[in-house]
Amino acid sequence: MSSRSVAVLGATGSIGRATIDVLERLGSEWRVAAISGHRRLDTLAELARRTSARQVVLSDASAGGDWSECEWPAGVEFSRGPEALVQAATAAEVDTVVAAIVGRAGVESTLAALQAGKRVALANKETLVCAGPVVAELLGKSPTERLAGPAERLAGPASGGRLLPVDSEHSAIFQCLAAGPDNPRRLILTASGGPFRQWSLEQMQAATVAEALEHPTWRMGKKITIDSATMMNKALELIEARWLFGCPAESLEVVVHPQSIIHSMVEFADGSVVAQLSPPDMRLPIQYALTYPQRLPCPSPPLERGKPWELTLEPVDQERFPAIPLGFEVAAKGGTAGAVVNAANEAAVDLFLSGQIRFTDIVPACRAALEHHTFEERPSLSRLLELDRWARAEVGRWSCRA
Ligand code: NAD
Ligand code: MG
Repeated sequence: MSSRSVAVLGATGSIGRATIDVLERLGSEWRVAAISGHRRLDTLAELARRTSARQVVLSDASAGGDWSECEWPAGVEFSRGPEALVQAATAAEVDTVVAAIVGRAGVESTLAALQAGKRVALANKETLVCAGPVVAELLGKSPTERLAGPAERLAGPASGGRLLPVDSEHSAIFQCLAAGPDNPRRLILTASGGPFRQWSLEQMQAATVAEALEHPTWRMGKKITIDSATMMNKALELIEARWLFGCPAESLEVVVHPQSIIHSMVEFADGSVVAQLSPPDMRLPIQYALTYPQRLPCPSPPLERGKPWELTLEPVDQERFPAIPLGFEVAAKGGTAGAVVNAANEAAVDLFLSGQIRFTDIVPACRAALEHHTFEERPSLSRLLELDRWARAEVGRWSCRA
């Protein structure tokens, strides 16, 4: 394999650090060219020393700290602010971008990387949820009635940017589609069910931040952990799948699988269901997005086969988890719906984390924003970003309801 040069955007987060672990083990053909973190200079300096990245970006231009107070490796180029993220994502020396920033903040750098023809390993699902119509247009694929096959259709034009999924469900579907790219009937996303899988609605109304952050199977950043508790994460993933695979919302399904071993499944025209199984460790889908179509040894441990397994599948309770019907609705609508719900969710999660709304207010706040906005089917990026700001302000009105 020829040598590869990678920009890890959001390097200080859970996916970013797992990516650096994968890259270190892949060996000397893989070089970290650029890293970013949002606020913590000391963490960024530690990662710069560990990876020898030449470009280092602190994306929050207003974050305090004097960069000369940290210990940097020789030759580092240091820059600040969101524009610096775009520069790192599009730098000539970079061929692969790992989009591991959380939230809508990842949109511009991910789009810029695709526009610049980079291979993008996409963890930042919010890019597709918010700007799905723009990405679909950019990759030369309008959403069609047809499900996308694994490689070429997902990848877009050979010379342009290509998108490879890191989200474990989408990576699983991507891998399953290799079994019959032309005849998938249903894409079945699995969900752990989160910490409140067996809680009543009344119990969820009183859920604390600490309880919502206690995920049973995955260790992740705060925002996605809260999204898993509301199951908004699965709603976002339904929308992500719609844009990624160019499939109609009716071909998507969600099942609850508390063990987080089956990462998703594809049902084909003949009724055969193909599943991808592995322990809950993000290093596997991260590495597959980097090395595709090659499969190489991975630090993720093998499945324990020396004792009996229990793999259960349950339907989702849509009454206790109203995020799921909301996700199906938004996946079916497309257009501006995703940007509004994504922004509303980000704002509502922040309000919940700071004790200003109840856990059970998060999804209704998102639905209210969706219902109050004026839908457009073919929005521009600037319109989507304008609606993002609008939806955040709308949700601000829900504060002090805790
Ligand atoms: P995290 O909170 O651990 O890390 C987020 C990263 O983004 C950090 O490097 C942080 O400094 C940076 N960041 C935060 N705000 C920013 C801003 N405004 N501008 C620029 N950078 C900013 O999050 P995570 O769990 O690693 O998740 C990252 C993305 O991957 C999310 O979109 C998430 O949905 C997705 N994802 C995560 C997992 C997982 O297991 N953690 C699994 C699937 C998908
Ligand atoms: Mg996922």
